[in-house]
Amino acid sequence: MGKKGIKNIVTGGAGFLGSHLIDKLMYRGESVICLDNFLTGDKKNIKKWYKNKNFELINHDLTKPIFVEGDRIWHLGCPASPSHYQTNPIYTAKTIFLGTLNMLDLAKKLKSKIFLASTSEIYGDPKVHPQTEDYFGFVNPIGIRSCYTEGKRIAETLFFDYQRLYNLDIRVARIFNTYGPRMTINDGRVMSNFIVQALNHKPLTIYGDGLQTRSFCYVEDLINAMIKVMDGTIFGPVNLGNHEEISILDLAKKITKEINSEMDLIFKDLPIDDPKRRQPSIALAKNIYQWEPRISLEKGLKPTIIYFKKLLKKMK
Ligand code: UDP
Repeated sequence: MGKKGIKNIVTGGAGFLGSHLIDKLMYRGESVICLDNFLTGDKKNIKKWYKNKNFELINHDLTKPIFVEGDRIWHLGCPASPSHYQTNPIYTAKTIFLGTLNMLDLAKKLKSKIFLASTSEIYGDPKVHPQTEDYFGFVNPIGIRSCYTEGKRIAETLFFDYQRLYNLDIRVARIFNTYGPRMTINDGRVMSNFIVQALNHKPLTIYGDGLQTRSFCYVEDLINAMIKVMDGTIFGPVNLGNHEEISILDLAKKITKEINSEMDLIFKDLPIDDPKRRQPSIALAKNIYQWEPRISLEKGLKPTIIYFKKLLKKMK
């Protein structure tokens, strides 16, 4: 259980992860100030809290400084799917760099804890498998993914420099692929693409040969882990994700089976710098927080498919 009275500031609070986090904090009896400019976030995700006295929404662009009060800052705000963050790469880099700097300055003023939603992207196209936190990554600094990848790397650097210089109480978590209800339908991610394609009886788009791997964590497991990290005492970085690795082809098979549709595939070019294998080592999270994911892909797919089904019905 959380402590009633804790004041949280959540950047990117209207997004997929942010809104699930807000739900959890609100149910714990804490209060939340949600900062979002709705670039990729959606008001629908947080609407249910509008009338709650413990909730406040501020339409805010993270590249600008802001002063609000809180005990804990959760810094999630940033477009996170490749198609979204590549739409305006300079704005993405600016949001990550200036947004992180602004939130760290706020944490310094408030003497509050601050959490960074970092990412598995910082490992780039990894040569170490599974990825452990001490691996520095294999990253292209000038490619189309770099605005996000290098952005998140400098965000981690800023966090640790603020910690060393100002003794800030930081938490850095590297979040691996996560899925579940409230994912956006058109963000180009494999999970939303495959489910929507299968529900619409369209061929599933496999990029490359489909042998590249990812490891998918259900959102509920991930949010539980994030809270454990914030509640804990370790700066990090710590990997958070599900260590069940699966090829994209096998994911296509699983999703079509779950939806009971014919498997029809169409092969497209692999995007530049698309990581070949990705699987977190979660030994650190297990040791420190006694956390490990509980929801298998089979189990997590069910509510995710139901969510997309409803969404498609509403759009008709
Ligand atoms: N992918 C795919 N078909 C799609 C969308 C994605 O084969 O319709 C592949 C993509 O090339 C990558 C993996 O699925 O290898 C995961 O892509 P996603 O954009 O979901 O996340 P990433 O882990 O690359 O950030």
